[in-house]
Parts: sequence; structure tokens; C-alpha cells
Amino acid sequence: MGFFSSHRGSALCCQSDKHNVSPLDFWNGSIQQEVRTAMANGQEHDLCKGCYQSERRGDASFRQIYNSSLGHLTKKEMPQWIDLDWSNFCNLKCVMCDASRSSTWAKETGEYSDTNFIRQTPQQHIDEVYQLSSTNLRYLNLQGGEPSMMKEYDDYLQHLIDIGASKNCEVTVVTNLSNINKQFYKRLEQFKLIKLSVSIDSYGLANNFIRYPSKFDFLKRNMLWIKDTPLQVAVSIAFQVTSMFNLDSFLVWLYDMQHLFRLAGKTLDIQLQLVKSPSALNIQHAPIKLKQRCIEHIKQYHRGNKRLKSAAVLEIRLLHILKELQKPHVTSQPFVDYVNSIANTRGLDLHNYLDDWDLIQD
Ligand code: SF4
Repeated sequence: MGFFSSHRGSALCCQSDKHNVSPLDFWNGSIQQEVRTAMANGQEHDLCKGCYQSERRGDASFRQIYNSSLGHLTKKEMPQWIDLDWSNFCNLKCVMCDASRSSTWAKETGEYSDTNFIRQTPQQHIDEVYQLSSTNLRYLNLQGGEPSMMKEYDDYLQHLIDIGASKNCEVTVVTNLSNINKQFYKRLEQFKLIKLSVSIDSYGLANNFIRYPSKFDFLKRNMLWIKDTPLQVAVSIAFQVTSMFNLDSFLVWLYDMQHLFRLAGKTLDIQLQLVKSPSALNIQHAPIKLKQRCIEHIKQYHRGNKRLKSAAVLEIRLLHILKELQKPHVTSQPFVDYVNSIANTRGLDLHNYLDDWDLIQD
């Protein structure tokens, strides 16, 4: 079927353990065969434990998600899906991210200074992915870093176009949409279907703090640009404590954006995941007054008439968030320390980003 190739190694998928082997060795090696045989016999394989744990918690696992969209594929000589994570090159340093995924974060922490703060897949591995790419390819996922800013992806997309693989291939791109690289999007438009997963975690200034140094006004402008392209778009929310400060405005903004997409003849899907790491950003660490405010915002949303469309997962997750926020309170100190330390390092005043910052603390 396929494989995951990243600057952290090769793997079954982005969630599974990474192996320090090249894509060709991984594709031709024994790991995939072993896991497939175990699954066919109804046995859990240790490399897939993350998925089985999610399923036991009642969450949808990547295994289930991939099975529903890719389960019909069989192993062929050449892979039918490829998931790429070739570099940490990114222009942002989001609060829930780290140096291994963002070169801008790395610059702040001083990691990977010998390679100009960039972690990159070796050229030999990239060459091997080219060798493994054929007209058999049906699904391609690009993540980073920020994929639209990576020349390696631009070149690879052009290669797939040149060998005639783009016409039958769906591409998913995870992007922060802080910039529009028109050449990248022009290439994407030559693929069968493009699904853009746009990361936005809050509204306005809170989002500017979370996805520093992006600007929400540019993001709005870029969303309006993307609505008039043939790309399918979903907003993907990584929900954590800093997303809770103005959830009411965020949900209204999403509703209005969906309306604009509908006028352009398109749908705008909304997805939401709860951030577990770093644990300081887990919603259980929100200050109590912020929890109360967020509970009220969710209830208002449920009472109101601006309910989001194509957002079944978001609706389920909002109910889950309500339940989580009503659990016995634990200290908010880890959260307060974490955001203060980020603000101090970046010379930011939290009062300018997070509504009622003083009033809200325990
Ligand atoms: S845009 Fe993505 S890769 Fe870049 S810092 Fe934010 S979360 Fe990390």
C-alpha cells in the first residue's frame, strides 16, 4: 500500500515508530509484511499500539480513518499512498509545536544550529521516494513544517506531474496558510483532488499569540483567496487552553466563513483535535474562570442559530470539551508558567493577546 517518509525516519504512518532506514529499505523490508500479517490474523502489532489505545479510549484512530479511505488498496509493486514529512522548515513557532517541527522554534531554542535550525530528510531518501513514485500513486499527504514553503515539495509535485501521476492522485496538505505560494498552488491544481487542511486555533489576537508571528488579518485574506480556487478546504483546530479565550467569536467567524464559502459554491469542513502535548496546554489546566467562560460559550453556541455545517466531529468534540471542563479543577499553574515563559522570551505582553488575562487567572 504505502509508507511514511520523514526527516525522523521511515514508518508505517506518521503516528507509528520511526525507523532509521531509507524509504526503499523500508518498502522492501519485513516490517510492513509482519504488521499486515498480524492485522489479517486479528492480532494487535506493537507498532500500531497508538491506534489501538485511541480506539480503547473511544477516539477514532488513524488506523480506522485510513482503513475507511484506503482500506481497498492492496500491496502492489509501487506504493499507492505516500505520506511525507521532509523538513521542519516553517515560518511560525506555534505554542503547541517544537523545534523538531518548526525551524523558527529551533531558532528560538538554539537547536539544530549547525544546520541553520533546519532538520531535513537526506537527499538519498528523497531520491528513493522519487524512485518509488509511479502512476500507481493514489494518495499523497504533505506535512511539515510548512509544506507550501518547501522547495523539495514543489519539485516533487512537478515530478509527479511530469510522470503523469498527478491525474489519478489525491493530495492532502496541512498548512498554516500564513502565506500564499502561487506556484505551489498552481502545481496542486493539476492533481485529481486537493484537500487543504488549514490550521487555525482561535480568533484574532489570541490566534496571533498561538501561531506567532502570523497575523489573523492575513489569514482571513488568504482564506478568501483560497475559497475561489478548486481546492477543498477544511479548518483544523488544535484546541488547547489559549483557544478558550474567545471561543464565541471564533465559532461565529467560522460560521461566517462557511457562509462565504457556500456563496462560492464550496463547503468548508471544520475539524477539531484536543492538544495533549505540551501538557501545560491541556484544557484541564485552564484557569477556573476561563473554564466557566468557555462552558458558557459552548452553551451559547448550542442555543444559538449559527450552528456550523459539515462539522459533526466538531460538535462531538465540543460536547467532550464541556464534559472535560466540568471535571474537578486541577491547578492552572503549568499553563500560566508556560505562556508567561513564551511571552517573556518573545517580548510579548499577554494582555495584548488574551482577553482579560489578569482577571482570568486563578
Ligand atoms: S505552522 Fe505547524 S509546523 Fe509550523 S510552528 Fe505551527 S504547528 Fe508547527
